[in-house]
This record gives sequence, C-alpha cells and structure tokens, in this order.
Amino acid sequence: MAFIELNVLNNTAEPILGIDLGTTNSLAALWRDGRPEILKPEGHPGRIPSALYFPKDGGEPAVGQVVRERALVDPEGTIFSIKRFMGCGLADVKDELESVQFPASETAEGLLQFDVRGRKLTPQEISARILMRVQDVACKALGGHKLKRAVITVPAYFDDTQRQATHDAARIAGIDVARIINEPTAASLAYGLDQRKEGKIAVYDLGGGTFDISILSIDSGVFRVLSTSGDTHLGGDDLDRTLVALALEELIPKVGQETAQDPGFLQGLRLAAERCKHELSLNPEADFHFSIPDQDLRWHRRVKRAEFEKLIGPLVARTLDACRRVLSDAKLQASDIDEVVLVGGSTRVPAVRKAVEEFFGRAPHNELDPDQVVALGAAVQGHILSGGTRDILLMDVTSLSLGLETMGGAVSKIVVRNSPIPCQVTEGFTTYADNQTGIDFNIVQGERELAADCRSLGRFKLTGIPPMPAGMAKVSVRFQLDANGVLNVTAREESTGAIAEIEVQPMHGLQDDQVESMLQASYDNAQDDFDHRRAADLKVEIGTMIRASESNMEIASQALDPESLADLKDAIQKGHDVATLKDVNEVQAVRDELEQATLPLAAILMDSVAKKAVAGKHLSEI
Ligand code: AMP
Repeated sequence: MAFIELNVLNNTAEPILGIDLGTTNSLAALWRDGRPEILKPEGHPGRIPSALYFPKDGGEPAVGQVVRERALVDPEGTIFSIKRFMGCGLADVKDELESVQFPASETAEGLLQFDVRGRKLTPQEISARILMRVQDVACKALGGHKLKRAVITVPAYFDDTQRQATHDAARIAGIDVARIINEPTAASLAYGLDQRKEGKIAVYDLGGGTFDISILSIDSGVFRVLSTSGDTHLGGDDLDRTLVALALEELIPKVGQETAQDPGFLQGLRLAAERCKHELSLNPEADFHFSIPDQDLRWHRRVKRAEFEKLIGPLVARTLDACRRVLSDAKLQASDIDEVVLVGGSTRVPAVRKAVEEFFGRAPHNELDPDQVVALGAAVQGHILSGGTRDILLMDVTSLSLGLETMGGAVSKIVVRNSPIPCQVTEGFTTYADNQTGIDFNIVQGERELAADCRSLGRFKLTGIPPMPAGMAKVSVRFQLDANGVLNVTAREESTGAIAEIEVQPMHGLQDDQVESMLQASYDNAQDDFDHRRAADLKVEIGTMIRASESNMEIASQALDPESLADLKDAIQKGHDVATLKDVNEVQAVRDELEQATLPLAAILMDSVAKKAVAGKHLSEI
C-alpha cells in the first residue's frame, strides 16, 4: 500500500495547528517565529494522554493527565489506546477487544461502539474528546486564541476508512481538517528532509504501544511512502512488562497470586517499572521501587542497564525483523537509506538507538524530541498550507562551522557545518607550556583552516589552572547551540573546576550572500589552506621539540659527542627561525632535521630514565 501526498497549497492567512493524535499521547504544535513549536501553557507539558476516564456515576468523562491517576484507583473506568479501533468494524478487531473492558457492539451504520458506563460511544467520538482537549490546551498556550484548522497525523498504514474516521473525529470536535498527513512524513518534515532533492528515508517509530517502520522516498519535496511495516502490539509498554515480570518473581511470594492479579496493583507496578526504565535510559543502573503504604508493602531492587537490555533483547530484535521486511518490500538494502529518523518515546532507550544505528549503518536523527517530532512536522505542514514558506528552517542546521583557534593559529572545528541545531559538542584541550595557568580562547566561524581567515565571534579567558607540566591539564570545552541559534561556550578545568564561558550569536549580522562567499573562499583556497594548516601544525610541533631539547641542554652538553651537539644546536637555531618560513615543505624539512638531531639526546635521556628505574634493584627484580 502506498500513499502519495499531493502538495496542493491552500493559501489562507489563518495559522493552522499541527496535531499528533497519538496512541498513547497527543499534542499540538504551531509555526511561530520561524520554526515549529509545541504549544504548552505555562506549567503544562503540552502532552495529553490519549485516554478517557468515565466516572462511576455516569458524569462527564475526564481527559488528560488526571486519567492516569484515576486509572490507578478505578481502572475499569478508563479507556486507553482508542486509536487502535479507529475506522474498524466489530469483526476487524475481535482479538483487540479482549484488552478493553467495555462491551462492544455495532451502530446501525456498522461502526464499532463501546458501552462505557451507560453510554454508547464510537472510537471517533472518544477521539473527538481527546482532540477537543488538545485544542483547548493549544488555545490556552496561545493566550485564549482558538485555532479551528489543523493538520492531523495518522500512521502511514491507515487505510481510507481509518483516515476518514480521523476526519470524522475532528469534525465532531469542531476542528476543520486542513490535511491528514502520514506520521513518518511529518517526522521527516520536522527534520527539514523535504529540502533534499531526492533520497530514501527510514522512519523508525517505537512508541508506548505500537511500532511502525516506514520507508519514504523524497523527490523534489514530495514524499512517497514506499512501504510500511510494524507491530501494533509492540512498544514501551512491552519493555515495562519485562520489568514487571522481573518484579513479580519476587513479589508473588510476598503478596500472593490474588493481589498480584489485582488491576490496581498491576497498574501501580507498571508505573514503577516505567520510572525505572526511564532512569535506565540515563544511567547504567537504576532503582526499581514499588510500595503500597496501606498494605505496608515496600519493595526495592537495583536494575543494571545490561540486565534490562538482555530482557528487552528479543523485543528489539522483533523491530529489526520488521525493518528487514519493510526494506525487502521496498526492494531496497539498508545501505540504500540516506536518512534515518527516530520517533516515539521508546527510541530514547540507548539499546534501541544502537540497534537501529547498527542495522542501517548510519547515525539516526534524534536531535529533536522523539515525542514531539510528529507534531512539529504537522505544524510545518500547517505553515506551508497557510501559505508560509520555510526558508528560515534552513537555519535548523549550522550554515558555517564553529570552532576554536588552537596554538599556532590553526582552527579546531567543534560544531561542523550542517550540524542540526540544537546541538552540543564537548572536546578536550590542554596547556601548551609548563606552568601555564590560563588559556585564551578565540571562537571562530567559517570553513578555512587558519583562524586568521575565519570570522572571530568572541574571545574569553580561562584562568585558575594549577601550575603543571605542559599537556597535563585537562580542559573540556563545550559548545552548546540552542534552537534560537545562540552559542554558549564553556571551558572547564577538570581538577579545580575552574570555569569560564561566553555567549555569542553566530549568525548575527551575517547575510546569506556573506555565508555564500565564505563558503566559496574555502573551496577556492582549499589546497593553500591545507598547506598553511600543515605548516602551522608543524611549527607547533617544532616549538614543543625545541622546548624539550632546551630544557635538557645541560645533559646534552655533557653527554653528547661534539658533532651531535653541534647538529642539535644548529637544528634548534633553524627551528627558532622557522616562524618566518611560509612554504610547508621547508617547514617540514626543518622539523625532520630537528627530529633527527634530537635522536642521540633522546637515547641518552631514555637510558638515564631506565637506569633510574632499575637503580638499587637486583637483576631478578627487573
Ligand atoms: P509515545 O507513544 O511516543 O509517547 O511513547 C511513549 C513511550 O515512550 C512510553 O512507553 C514511555 O515509557 C517511553 N519513554 C518515554 N521516555 C522514555 C525514556 N527516557 N526512556 C525510555 N522510554 C521512554
């Protein structure tokens, strides 16, 4: 099954919301100030659980965070994952119905409906409630401004009936659908992949309850779904279940079979397992805590990430089986894929990311929040449909490299050109001279090899480095570029914690044509730049060799034969004069001669170090 999304523009000035109507959570985004943004009222995460709670007394159903809480005390009144039933008839979902506690029947029109505590509701009507809540939250975030039009996302495998059901849900909610788009397409849009002329994209989406893998092709800005696969019963909940099973092994002997089957008990344990799983995404070990104060139950266990990875191994392997199928359906190999995009909260699990990277042989895009990427992409589509352009989105990658001037005037690139932003890169540096207590940093922008040919964005100094031999200090420098293009550079000396930082705006005052000409200059000067850089690096190396030789001159004068000593002095002098040399071959010759001339001294020093090491020791101890 393949869907082609037509790129028909529908110009209207009214902003269009992007809504991700998810199986587990739903959220809205809007294009604002040149980029898509998740709509969150103050103090609210913006994300709404896609679940409803029906009170026992038949009162109005509750939507949102409160449902998760109600589910703990009254699980029978809660309905989750309604998306699985969208556009389905009773016969289509016989097996699925086992997971829903409400009796199901069909309407006169053949639509599935659930009998929830005295009222009959179709999945469309239930989804409409979720959509209304999403729209409300968006409205609050926009200071009370209610947007009526929306782009809504659906899984790529949704057929026409399921898409129509989503349309109907929106209509019931009073939302005007500007377009229904595929979730993987939205994720690709969020990453600006529509800017590619052509290419093949794999979108790996592991959410709470479902797994989808889609292969898209992009051709002149138009996405086409080549194949989709997945598993509608595989997701983060299954990862949680492996931990729940682990806990039950120890808990059943304590609480008994009956309590262990209690829905409230299990729900509490599931939430505890999920917390532990989240912590394991950050740390190599995590605490798995579960307590029921009324029953005086307190249980606790440390879980190692490796142990968790072993438990989930078969589940991750199942997702890769689906990746193999989807590639074979599209008649492609993993190596044909140009971009891999991660979607869904469960792609935060390090073992999942690693498995995907190894399978496709390339690092997947994960710079955006995997829970938000679909809504962000829907907002991009909304912006395009309301007549906007997205040139500005090109700013989502750094258009010029950012780096530091190193000794000798060369540039060490830290954030390379075309890195997606926001991003963060940390690199280690050290001191050049003995007892150096400060380092001057010059932040530069551009593609040239020497700092003098780049744009200097700012300078700052790190002081307070304790005196120590050259090369011993450990200074980590972090470049952090936020979504607004603001660069924060922090330098930190590890042993004392001394810190210095600066904030600059790399693109401030730069016009597109200036960026172009900076890039052109780097192409035009590529060979010369390479030679200059090499010469600068060689000069630094020569400086280090001279300092090492000069500090041992006394030993050299006593121990070297006159000819070697004269050669060494001569080579050191030439080394001192190298600053004026420009030709890289001449600098290389000076360096090689110096190296040659230091060999006899190096041999003597090695010898004396070895002698010291063995001094006073019996041969058998060596
Ligand atoms: P989604 O359906 O995309 O909202 O994904 C929800 C799933 O992502 C749930 O199973 C969450 O437990 C899981 N999830 C969210 N954050 C993390 C995390 N940091 N580590 C592991 N799983 C996570």
